Amino acid sequence: MKYVLVTGGVVSGLGKGVTASSIGVVLKACGLRVTSIKIDPYLNTDAGTMSPFEHGEVFVLDDGGEVDLDLGNYERFLDVTLTRENNITTGKIYQSVLEKERKGDYLGKTVQVVPHITDAIKDWIESVAAIPVDGKEAPADVCVIELGGTVGDIESMPFIEALRQLSFSVGQDNFCLVHVSLIPVLGVVGEQKTKPTQHSVRELRALGLTPHLLACRSAQPLLETTKEKLSQFCHVPAGNVLNIHDVPNIWHIPLLLRNQNAHNTILTQLDLLKIATPPDLQ
Ligand code: ADP
Repeated sequence: MKYVLVTGGVVSGLGKGVTASSIGVVLKACGLRVTSIKIDPYLNTDAGTMSPFEHGEVFVLDDGGEVDLDLGNYERFLDVTLTRENNITTGKIYQSVLEKERKGDYLGKTVQVVPHITDAIKDWIESVAAIPVDGKEAPADVCVIELGGTVGDIESMPFIEALRQLSFSVGQDNFCLVHVSLIPVLGVVGEQKTKPTQHSVRELRALGLTPHLLACRSAQPLLETTKEKLSQFCHVPAGNVLNIHDVPNIWHIPLLLRNQNAHNTILTQLDLLKIATPPDLQ
């Protein structure tokens, strides 16, 4: 299994979900089968008890699972049918670990965030990634994982650590990290500011994860000088700095990615060029 992890920096609501779904679309257009997992680091077991004023509408899956609206994006963009297990929350992970602890499955060991919670996260990801969601029998080729929240949040730390361990165990050719970040423009000078992204990439690297691609959200297209600066300070090749500027309609985003050759960059990182075919997006 190949994994594409989408993380977010600087602020929430940047468009991680839409970016992750769009990455799925371009990979699918290359002939690959794609599944997805959404991680929500909150303690609620699912979105069913959460106010729609805070989190947007609850999306109900075919199996009755009440989940984040992003899962609806994945189903629509990728034409898949997800299960409630495709949405991982801190609540679900702790519940499963505590149930095992009550049954005595840990054989007297002290149950801890590392390794027990992180192992439960890795096992959950690996087993759910293997569930076919497109009506075919074998597991998908690529699993796109979206980590909700913002890098550096206390809540997401066990997930970041589990994903760091996962990236190490699956190996370099099977793991691609796309970090979605914000490029604000300040005042009348109109300069695109890279510092918030530099800080969030530094935070990610301090936690042991290095982005292969940056997906930069901005009001206007990124200037070449901004890309070069990001490349230099964030340790990402300039060609891997993608720009996802504001568009009138989110269906433009897969095309934005295709036009910037994001599929080739991701396929190269995942060593998939030999089995993928060029995209045919209209
Ligand atoms: P996150 O997963 O980071 O919380 P979402 O993917 O849910 O963010 O997106 C937040 C909102 O921003 C959604 O309403 C989405 O339609 C909108 N959005 C995302 N990307 C863009 C874009 N490039 N242009 C315009 N709107 C966007």
